[in-house]
Amino acid sequence: FDQREGHIWYNGEYVDWKDAKLHVLSHGLHYASSVFEGVRAYGGKIFKLEEHTERLYKSAELLGFEIPYSQQELNRIQIEILEKEGLTDAYLRPVAWRGSEMMGISAQENKINVAIAAWEWPSYFSPEDRLKGLRLKTAEWRRPDPRTIPCVAKAAGLYMICTLSKHKVEKEGYQDAMMLDFEGYVAEATGANIFFIKDGAIHTPTPDCFLNGITRQTVVDLAKRRGIKVIERKIRPEELGDFEECFLTGTAVEVTPVSAIDNYSFTPGTITKTLMDDYTAEVTPTAAAAE
Ligand code: PMP
Repeated sequence: FDQREGHIWYNGEYVDWKDAKLHVLSHGLHYASSVFEGVRAYGGKIFKLEEHTERLYKSAELLGFEIPYSQQELNRIQIEILEKEGLTDAYLRPVAWRGSEMMGISAQENKINVAIAAWEWPSYFSPEDRLKGLRLKTAEWRRPDPRTIPCVAKAAGLYMICTLSKHKVEKEGYQDAMMLDFEGYVAEATGANIFFIKDGAIHTPTPDCFLNGITRQTVVDLAKRRGIKVIERKIRPEELGDFEECFLTGTAVEVTPVSAIDNYSFTPGTITKTLMDDYTAEVTPTAAAAE
């Protein structure tokens, strides 16, 4: 992925994609002092850009560092990079990390580096394929206690759990892992939030030790607009058998049905399909403008 054509914005200038490098002694690499975002553009328009940038700054604040650019500047650069690279349907990856000036756990004075990459990510919106649903397995690792880590930061360190969990279940033929939280309640997937449906109502875990995803918040709003009841609560894994439908939400996965978790199976129904369509309409600039 590092040998592509194109440019990456890196500490204030555009560098060739292949040359966007950092030092091996970077604090971000050794001690995970790194925060990032996953953002998408549809038809040339970035969906919820301000919300993503705000979260990036919040994540940095939670890790105790300040991004040396204003939010407005990073918003402007994200719009600019799409134009510069000729992208309309794209994924954007802003990232900020402590540099390599000092080596050791303490790195108060290390430079905060910032980069933004963007690449084409066509939006397929092929509900037929996605309606088959993902197969998930409960992860071996859990979301940590909020007293042990700033768990609502979108920070590199927290993704160690996600990668470990996802790799393990992928080797067993599943597409994603469902993580429980430190108390054993259902939390989320490795890069997406999770929703369940029972008797016409949506049930989704309270985001108290994982990201309250921007897509999650969007989908909750869309459901409420449709008059669908949304219940945020603690969900026990034993309850999975009570639910009829299940789907994931996230910038990358959008609204994607889940067909199975461990031995429980789910079939996408009216609510899942409606929310998939509503989400597509919400992110599509022409549809949004026509509303
Ligand atoms: N949880 C995790 C662990 C994630 O990586 C993501 C993707 N950022 C989400 C939830 C969903 O967040 P969003 O809808 O803001 O993309």
